Amino acid sequence: MKTQSSIVVKKFGGTSVGSIARIENVASRIKEDVENGQSPVVVSSAMSGETNRLIGLAGEIDSKYRGEAYDMLLASGEQVSISLLAIALEKRGLKAEPLLAYQLGIKTDSIFSKARILSVDHEKIKQIISEGKIPIVAGFQGINQTSKITTLGRGGSDTTAVAIAAAIKADSCEIYTDVPAVFSADPRLVKKAREIPTLRYDEMMEMASLGSKVLHFRCVELAAKYKIKIHLRSTFEKREGTFIVPEEEAMENPVVSAVTHEALTAVIKLFPVPKGSGFLADLFGKLSEASVVVDIITQSHNEEGQRLAFSLPMSDLELARDVISKAYGDKVSITVMEDKAKISIVGVGMRNYSGVAYRFFNVLSKNNIDIDLVTTSDIKVSAIIDKESLSDAANQLHTEFGLDAT
Ligand code: ADP
Ligand code: ASP
Ligand code: MG
Repeated sequence: MKTQSSIVVKKFGGTSVGSIARIENVASRIKEDVENGQSPVVVSSAMSGETNRLIGLAGEIDSKYRGEAYDMLLASGEQVSISLLAIALEKRGLKAEPLLAYQLGIKTDSIFSKARILSVDHEKIKQIISEGKIPIVAGFQGINQTSKITTLGRGGSDTTAVAIAAAIKADSCEIYTDVPAVFSADPRLVKKAREIPTLRYDEMMEMASLGSKVLHFRCVELAAKYKIKIHLRSTFEKREGTFIVPEEEAMENPVVSAVTHEALTAVIKLFPVPKGSGFLADLFGKLSEASVVVDIITQSHNEEGQRLAFSLPMSDLELARDVISKAYGDKVSITVMEDKAKISIVGVGMRNYSGVAYRFFNVLSKNNIDIDLVTTSDIKVSAIIDKESLSDAANQLHTEFGLDAT
């Protein structure tokens, strides 16, 4: 039996395995790590564009369909990438074992398309490693209690990686992607965004929940729970990226660490709605049963009656509209606003400073950007705005809070 010194979980995102040349590049990189004494456990996403292509195919038949067949379809992308990666590793003289969720015992609950990992069979991975093989695990998928294939939500391969790292008590968990680090804003939107060398779990969690898709929210949540350090880094460059670490190891707490955004947002307005919490409980209960994720909710009242507005991801809009019109279509008028976006500022340092919300609203106001909905917590301020104002808002807020790279 071979004893291993450092077990490192390495997750490769869609762009990193987006072509045969890139898969070969990943395989060469893994080989180098093995030669340097590491014992890798690889997790891979589907090749870039593949999950979207599969969603498109299902949508051509029924864009509202969700359930078993949908998850089985979406999970197929990862089967292709792990097999190709295993072939590329074997070509390089390494032994590799591609593994689907059912083979590895990645057990989840039964919430299709948004399943949560409940357990991972760590003995199986350890056994494969001890046989001198590299496990190549399909990210994003699991199986429920009745062995049906589930998926973890878009971007969920990150969560597979951290769940495995926690289960086998890996020495570290590296997330390889198409950017070299977590930045102070999405570098695609804010050209002056700068790299953040270390981030606390709570900040990264807030960023992820506010739309920073560089890491899946649940992966950071799990990492915090099991104290797994995440190293987010580039697949294409060899340098270090961002370390996501416990509070006590983070270096500094700037007032605002990052500007984040969620481009694909919609707002639903309902009028008139009955007063009191009974209607709200009924409505949000029905939406939750349909697995619709509701974000910011506001109510207002004038002499004409009670209004309700809430934001939600564009991907859940059709489903939500369907649920609402079936349940209350004859009693309330439904207005849907598409082409909305959410812009947020995040920072644990905000807790100790006043005037942050003022500066946020002032920037939007100076740039004539209207706000539909607002929400705040002690470490974030968020607003729903028109999508066409998103770039201005993100860049101006980035400058206002001193985040621009020099
Ligand atoms: P992968 O396929 O490797 O999982 P993703 O597309 O899920 O990659 O995540 C990487 C992308 O996240 C980047 O290309 C970038 O555009 C986006 N992103 C959003 N916010 C940030 C941020 N704050 N820092 C870095 N990247 C970000
Ligand atoms: N392939 C899945 C997606 O595109 C999971 C992932 O990439 O993490 O969402
Ligand atoms: Mg991702």
